[in-house]
Amino acid sequence: MIDLHTHTTFSDGTDTPTELVNKALASGISVLAITDHDSISGWNEATAALRPGLSLVPGAEISCQTADGVSVHVLGLLFDPNHQELMNTLEKTRDNRIGRMEKIITRINEAGIDISMSDVLEQLSEGATLGRPHLADALVKKGVVASRDEAFSKMLHNNSKYYVSHYSPSPELAIELIKQAGGVAVIAHPMASHRGRVISDETFGSIINAGLDGIEIDHRDHNPDEKKALINLAKSFDLVMTGASDYHGNGKLNILGEYTTNPEQWEKLESKANKRRVITA
Ligand code: AMP
Ligand code: ZN
Ligand code: FE
Ligand code: FE
Repeated sequence: MIDLHTHTTFSDGTDTPTELVNKALASGISVLAITDHDSISGWNEATAALRPGLSLVPGAEISCQTADGVSVHVLGLLFDPNHQELMNTLEKTRDNRIGRMEKIITRINEAGIDISMSDVLEQLSEGATLGRPHLADALVKKGVVASRDEAFSKMLHNNSKYYVSHYSPSPELAIELIKQAGGVAVIAHPMASHRGRVISDETFGSIINAGLDGIEIDHRDHNPDEKKALINLAKSFDLVMTGASDYHGNGKLNILGEYTTNPEQWEKLESKANKRRVITA
């Protein structure tokens, strides 16, 4: 089984890279991508934990914003971690998330709810990318809500009055940088409509022009009609079709390996990287 989209404690997942690698081996996964939000910090630990039977695809899920203001996620896989401009872009996003979190907290405080930055940082593992899930966990701890899910549906969703965005590159820039770094770019869950506005046809056209390699189609946030539309799009533009769990440990209901990528599609995707960068034990 091939699962090309997972998170660890280096972003908003709840399993360490070591735990994730062990679970992947136990679940019969043979190819696992680690794609923390705007970070490659989990790669080393995951590499050290590898054992025969599991290959690691180094990656990151890059938070992007389109020209028309839609939040989209681009999965960068198999890129060179020494590409300075790509690394600087990820770092800028991570840094910007701190001021952004302070602004969200201020808005929540103004509504009379007591929560502080230190409550949120308590929920964050060392070196992890800060995100709304950590604020959700702090709100659960304070007893404001019962779960991450409830925090998102009542307070932290993209259309909430508390919502503040952070610096994000355009998806076109993210794709260009991933490609310059020799990697491959896959648009993550492009039709996940329950999270807010989704990508327009214009943006789809422009990210395909920018060099998009694949579309994540089999994902729990897509319904059968959305999958059909995406399959048609992928076929018309000869894009790789992927499936993945977007596993977050206990942070979300998604089960490791619940959606997977077909081996032929994976082979096609891997062949588009400029070098073999899959890591084995
Ligand atoms: P941020 O990166 O701070 O904008 O937070 C977005 C992240 O929150 C997404 O990438 C998901 O990992 C997570 N998320 C979004 N909706 C939910 C939800 N309903 N329950 C748990 N996590 C969520
Ligand atoms: Zn996440
Ligand atoms: Fe995502
Ligand atoms: Fe994700």
